[in-house]
Amino acid sequence: MINEKMYALGSKRSIIREIFEYCKQRAVEIGADKVFDFSIGNPSVEPPKEISDTICDLIKNENSVLLHGYTSAQGDLGTRQAVADDINARFDAGVTANNIYMTCGAAASLTISLRALLNPNEECIVFAPFFTEYRVFIENAQGKVVISTPCEKTFQVDIKDFESKITENTKAVIMNSPNNPSGVVYNEETIKAVCATLTAKEKEYGHPIYLIADEPYRELIFDGVPVPYLMNYYDNTIVCYSYSKALSLPGERIGYIAVSPKMEDSVNVYLAICGAGRSLGYVCAPSLFQQVIKKCIGAKVDVNIYKENRDILYSALTEYGYECVQPDGAFYLFVKALEDDAMKFFEKAKSKEILVVPCDDFGVKGYVRIAYCVDKQRIVNALPAFKALAEEYNK
Ligand code: PLP
Repeated sequence: MINEKMYALGSKRSIIREIFEYCKQRAVEIGADKVFDFSIGNPSVEPPKEISDTICDLIKNENSVLLHGYTSAQGDLGTRQAVADDINARFDAGVTANNIYMTCGAAASLTISLRALLNPNEECIVFAPFFTEYRVFIENAQGKVVISTPCEKTFQVDIKDFESKITENTKAVIMNSPNNPSGVVYNEETIKAVCATLTAKEKEYGHPIYLIADEPYRELIFDGVPVPYLMNYYDNTIVCYSYSKALSLPGERIGYIAVSPKMEDSVNVYLAICGAGRSLGYVCAPSLFQQVIKKCIGAKVDVNIYKENRDILYSALTEYGYECVQPDGAFYLFVKALEDDAMKFFEKAKSKEILVVPCDDFGVKGYVRIAYCVDKQRIVNALPAFKALAEEYNK
């Protein structure tokens, strides 16, 4: 008998993947330029040139046996030092290389951290709307998902609701900012309130509650909106970072976990992370890309390309009568469906070749996500279809 849970996960793709596959098939049928695919969060901006230059340089000039060999399980010391230096330069967080664990991207950072923290049936709170894979990662660590509903319209954390969801069994909280799927950046007021609530609850229950900052979109920020660094607000913080979106390298699988040095049991948590990485069979993060990160730390993609897409889409859709959350970061627009049932709205949009993601699985009903990490022309070409769709509802 095979594992039923794994079978279920493998045989039913996520709705995003389902739509993405449909788009590929539809493109063959009617031509790619006629399919307005806004399904998947695959970066559309080129990685910085220094990435490819560095890859070429490393391959040409470094010892190839070392370059392609295993690194320490927690990552190459030089890379971890470079990451720690970068964090300290930007956020003055006082981390050392021994607080950094290199991973295969944010998904790995999260699965490892959750496996390291959770005992069977302990609870992990997620703030809706949330990245759907959190459920998979938490349940794989034998934890229970608890959803905190957001404030209406702003999609900031509803502190009262959050407080009511914390129990003696709460072990961790995941906070994702800028947020997938809303594009919202949690402001400092929200962060302070979340951290004060957690501190009070830790005292009440007499055990730590860990805050996991899921930060693959940290660098994708518009108009200089500040993204508070959670370690500076709450000692029991673990940062799950990734270069997938920050440097447009999602296929290369590179990121890290940073454990706050101010955490009371920081060393033990770090060792549990090493243990979780080992038990999950990660072995080490890709060696070549650890070297690339070491040499290219601080490199940036051109965020203005995403900002331009956001501006075109946001202003057109609000003009047509759609209600959208103004995104300050990431590359998603969270749009209220024009009827209560997001799935029915999705089907109507699909009939106009607009493919967006209904967000019921993200913990908020009646919304769809538009991933605008696409060529600008696709957005421009899709606008008449968005307009026609809105008019159909207004009839
Ligand atoms: N967390 C969030 C909120 C995401 O949106 C994603 C990917 O889209 C991930 C984690 C996983 O990212 P990575 O490619 O770094 O594993």
